Amino acid sequence: MLEQAQQLLQQYFGYPTFREGQQRIITSLLEGQDTLGIMPTGGGKSICYQIPALLFSGTTIVVSPLISLMKDQVDALNSVGISATFINSTLSGKEVNERMQATMSGKIKLLYVAPERLEAESFIQRMQSLHISCIAIDEAHCVSQWGHDFRTSYLAIAPFVRSLPRRPILAAFTATATPEVTQDMARLLCLSEPNIYVTGFGRDNLAMNVLRGENKRDFVMRYAESHSSQPGIIYAATRKEVDEIQTAMRRKGLNVGKYHAGMTDDERAHNQEAFIYDDIRIIVATNAFGMGIDKSNVRWVIHYNMPKNMEAYVQEAGRAGRDGEPSECILLFNPQDIITQKFLIEQNMQSPERKSNDYRKLQTMVDYCYTPNCLNNAILDYFEDPSEQTPCGICSSCKDERELVDITIEAQKIFSCIHRMRERFGVSMIASVLKGSQNKKVLQYRFDQLPTYGVMRKSTEKEISDLINVLIAEGYLMLSEGQYPIVKIQQLAVDVLKGERQVFQKVHKEPEAAPGSMD
Ligand code: ADP
Ligand code: ZN
Repeated sequence: MLEQAQQLLQQYFGYPTFREGQQRIITSLLEGQDTLGIMPTGGGKSICYQIPALLFSGTTIVVSPLISLMKDQVDALNSVGISATFINSTLSGKEVNERMQATMSGKIKLLYVAPERLEAESFIQRMQSLHISCIAIDEAHCVSQWGHDFRTSYLAIAPFVRSLPRRPILAAFTATATPEVTQDMARLLCLSEPNIYVTGFGRDNLAMNVLRGENKRDFVMRYAESHSSQPGIIYAATRKEVDEIQTAMRRKGLNVGKYHAGMTDDERAHNQEAFIYDDIRIIVATNAFGMGIDKSNVRWVIHYNMPKNMEAYVQEAGRAGRDGEPSECILLFNPQDIITQKFLIEQNMQSPERKSNDYRKLQTMVDYCYTPNCLNNAILDYFEDPSEQTPCGICSSCKDERELVDITIEAQKIFSCIHRMRERFGVSMIASVLKGSQNKKVLQYRFDQLPTYGVMRKSTEKEISDLINVLIAEGYLMLSEGQYPIVKIQQLAVDVLKGERQVFQKVHKEPEAAPGSMD
């Protein structure tokens, strides 16, 4: 079967081989298993159900919420000689009837519908007598309230499947891979012991970079000037920031467009087109930009602010290098970004579970910004992508040539200080105590009496805070949830305190700057 599938891939799509994940998903479907495919945008989900559809004896129904894309998808299939059609609200009653008839006659291999259709009595009736081999559900995360795109109509899919005289194979696809959403998809779509494949999150042509402590404005100006001949995107958090950066760049004579929700539809469409057709090289945008844009030669993506979670970051940064050519993704991190994101979470009116979920995801994003390990592998880990991990060699962690220094003593000072402060305080208060600060709160709690007071006085409070954040990112410490998180000691830190484990960090070579030489 797989060989046949490969042959069809070549014949209809002109590709010589399946991507690794596609092959596993297609094999699973051809074996008749319900399958959940989790792949980033651009990973090649459509082929995963289109090829099996050609091999199944009956029809494959494709459920998709993107009515505007259905026509393009169907046109593309028809143009290579695959018989496909769609039924949605843009068609007249007469057209719907004609297409239904063609489908019922068994001529149609792929029928695209919007989820609402599965609730229509007349549609349900007619489907009783159609031989349906497979139901492919696109954007399957829409069934989950944990996803970013919940749609009630997705809840109609499971009852629809149950109404059929013969249960088809279910294939669900999404780019969202958090455990809550994955569980919901399996449960609410009534997948039967699905094979779950997470794949394609590693992008070996992308050089991932996290830069901490840069002057952001200077950095983007310099970078844009030296890369102005290559298409690039700068993501900023607010409209105001987008406006300011664009204005500053224009003043330097750069050919820069902008995109955010405060502009008119026309302005936005115009700038988007200009960027896609390379009339402007650089676009400064909020995260409103990029949905459904397929521009393959974006060479760099800079994040002026840290996004709210890894999904958002990977999706936005992943717009670089779709063509497989080397490209650069740079995240400019400043601890202020954490405060901004927490403020946004607090402002959102949502359930306590939802809020704590958001906090948890935010912390994982922060951990990414502090990790000394390979950033590409950190992304694979986050998405639980089982691909083999070797250091990518091109990310800012891999290229960090600073010396690995034993900082066990420093770490012990920090852990024991947190312990003595009874694990009740946040990063900056702990840093103040270790620094030996005279700050009112420190004195009020009489922390100046602690044996750990001032034991790191040779470092700045910022250096100490940074080090604590690194220890959090590496799992020695944990931050509680909420707007004012508290630092807690983890088992790894207990091991360090007992002298059973050493801690290493990359530091600059100058002896004064090395935390390893302090005391
Ligand atoms: P998704 O739906 O996951 O966003 P698509 O199915 O639109 O992704 O595929 C993204 C791009 O990758 C398309 O241009 C598609 O033609 C291409 N593609 C998919 N599978 C392969 C393959 N096996 N070999 C080469 N290109 C592929
Ligand atoms: Zn790396």
